[in-house]
Amino acid sequence: MRYVSTRGEAPVLAFDEVVLAGLARDGGLYVPESWPRLSAADLRAMAGLDYATLAARVMAPFAEPAIHEADLAAITAEAYRGFDHHPDVAPLKPLGDDAWLLELFHGPTLAFKDYALQILGRLFDFVLARRGERVTVVGATSGDTGSSAIEACRDRASIEIFILHPNGRVSDVQRRQMTTVASANVHNIAIEGTFDDCQDLVKGMFNDAGFRDRLNLAAVNSINWARIAAQVVYFVHAALAVGGPDRRVDFSVPTGNFGNVFAGYVAREIGVPIGRLIVGSNRNDILTRFFASGGMQTEAVLPTLSPSMDIQNSSNFERLLFELYDRDGATVGHLMQRFREDGRFGIEPERWRRALRVFEAERFDDEQTKAIIRAVYEETGNLLDPHSAIGVAAARARHRKGGAPMISVATAHPAKFPEAVEAATGVHPELPARLADLFEREERYEVLPADLGIVKDVVSSTLDRQRAGA
Ligand SMILES: *Cc1c(COP(=O)(O)O)cnc(C)c1O
Repeated sequence: MRYVSTRGEAPVLAFDEVVLAGLARDGGLYVPESWPRLSAADLRAMAGLDYATLAARVMAPFAEPAIHEADLAAITAEAYRGFDHHPDVAPLKPLGDDAWLLELFHGPTLAFKDYALQILGRLFDFVLARRGERVTVVGATSGDTGSSAIEACRDRASIEIFILHPNGRVSDVQRRQMTTVASANVHNIAIEGTFDDCQDLVKGMFNDAGFRDRLNLAAVNSINWARIAAQVVYFVHAALAVGGPDRRVDFSVPTGNFGNVFAGYVAREIGVPIGRLIVGSNRNDILTRFFASGGMQTEAVLPTLSPSMDIQNSSNFERLLFELYDRDGATVGHLMQRFREDGRFGIEPERWRRALRVFEAERFDDEQTKAIIRAVYEETGNLLDPHSAIGVAAARARHRKGGAPMISVATAHPAKFPEAVEAATGVHPELPARLADLFEREERYEVLPADLGIVKDVVSSTLDRQRAGA
């Protein structure tokens, strides 16, 4: 498979090049040149495969010929070995009335991002080893992505990873999941400032071409195509589990950057019998407003109980726009430029209607989120984290009696957000046994001011020390 940019002006790349490139050089996002197709017979042959084998089978058409299915299979087997519920990895729980919960929180950091990042870290290593190169991953986190990226990159021979978090502004569980990782290639920096300061520092490092090239900087953020490809797998897995390919199924996905639900769209495009995709938002409802109006308009970001969805610019949406505009990169480039300049754009009614044939959207505030956590606990005994709760609330709003089965995607373990869960139910969610000693483990991190020069010096000198010691 070859990859083109959503803005049509960057070079066409192979899968391994796209893994390392992240953002395209024209500012766009890479997408496959065409959609591979799975027939009903292909899908039937996938039913019953263990998750890791299925992952290699589903990802192969996206990765060939740069990476072969046998190499992918070795990567996926290792990536998912450590997940709870192995070999099922992504279990489905009944929520009553042909409604299901797809639990995507059985990875090392208890959030769905592990399902893709555990693959991405190993893909980096595989591709870099073949080229004899090394990279320095730098990233900023407001909580979840940092620990997931660290777990993905720890102890990988070709990678050093630096994660910046705002000092004192992430939860204790989130900080400890990052700072207690005892791997020599993992470096945590607490910045005296906000998440935005952290992001600006990371941008500042990438914008310094000399620094970027000398350190071979790389990013693992959610616009990386390999993350989408790895996320397609659990849509296939769940659809087959409830009767696919002979039965159609709907999904409800709590959404921030539009990466997870876009993977559902890709699954639908390649032939998985998916009817509707329900987008769940919190009060940061730019996507819900888009599906209601055909217009995208950004507003101030409000803090909510579901912080990983506190986003007013869903970067992966550009990939859907590219589809709605029949892969016309020039028009997508114009719309994105308008969005950057004015904070808004609209699309033509017939293209908006086309989006509505697949997508529906709902929004819920914090009170409604707590109410659904309480209701689901009372009805089924399941504890939902606030993100997953928004998915279930959206599913209930849109599930038709006697219609297709509805699968809600659960994106985080309830113990990642214990205060909200306890406030809603009176029950304190326990961390899984393997993390039970998280609060006894030794932390390791450096506190630095929000000063680009100082941060760059520390990153450089840390790398020099690592290489001298290696
Ligand atoms: C990142 C995240 C989301 C949002 O996923 P997107 O792919 O950005 O839409 C939802 N829930 C949790 C727990 C997350 O960490």
